[in-house]
Amino acid sequence: MTQYCCIFCKSDDREFTSREHVVPESLGNSEHILPRGIVCDWCNNYFARKVEAPVLNSAFFTQARNRTGIPNKRRNIPPIDVLSYPVALHLQLAASTGGDRSIYAANDSDNDAFVDMITKRKRFSVVFPVPKLPSGRLFARFLAMMALEAWAKTILDANGDLHGDLIDKPELDEIRGFARFGTGADAWVYASRRLYAEDHHFVDDDGSTFDVLHEYTLLYTDANELYFVIAILGIEFAINLGGPEIDGYNDWLKSNAGRSPLYPNGM
Ligand SMILES: [Zn+2]
Repeated sequence: MTQYCCIFCKSDDREFTSREHVVPESLGNSEHILPRGIVCDWCNNYFARKVEAPVLNSAFFTQARNRTGIPNKRRNIPPIDVLSYPVALHLQLAASTGGDRSIYAANDSDNDAFVDMITKRKRFSVVFPVPKLPSGRLFARFLAMMALEAWAKTILDANGDLHGDLIDKPELDEIRGFARFGTGADAWVYASRRLYAEDHHFVDDDGSTFDVLHEYTLLYTDANELYFVIAILGIEFAINLGGPEIDGYNDWLKSNAGRSPLYPNGM
């Protein structure tokens, strides 16, 4: 491809200075990256501020990143808010990239009361809030963004026709508008289910273990539907690039014994 053209706004004359991560860096992705010229700076900045930041800074992802020790771009792991008991104090639990953990009084807490508690009491407990996933619509747009970028990456890797199969394809205009401008469907339904524990260690052929933070694939069904399927921290999500329904994916799962397209040979 010689000419730059944005897969979201279809502009070819904006700035294209950034390389776009298909899965945000803050989820540990350093390998699935689109070259310059595929997502313009205008769209890239919009997604960073309005879609990725609110999803990744949500309580759900902050806690998950803290537990699994995934640093952000600045190599920080976000602390999580906890409440102590029996002395009720707002505390923060921090993690370092080296695996150390520390606990301290939050800015709005009485530090003297915290010091008093840890020095005078033999034991105290901390309570973790258990957050839900961020709101459905925002999270669906996050999935839609990654779906189109993953499709672009697949086409580029195969030396395919980015214009014919993505940019100029009218069947993809609905998801394009939904991801980038929030237009169209009120609710873009996606599938989600837990595949494995968040801290599951996979074993390699040579016996070494590794963590899979995210893994994705594109699935073409017999009904000619295209699905983006991704596992993030053990949860599988699937979204239909052709429309806001997920029935075709559920049918596919039924005829494939519920196996994830990410692990066609089982896990
Ligand atoms: Zn753009």
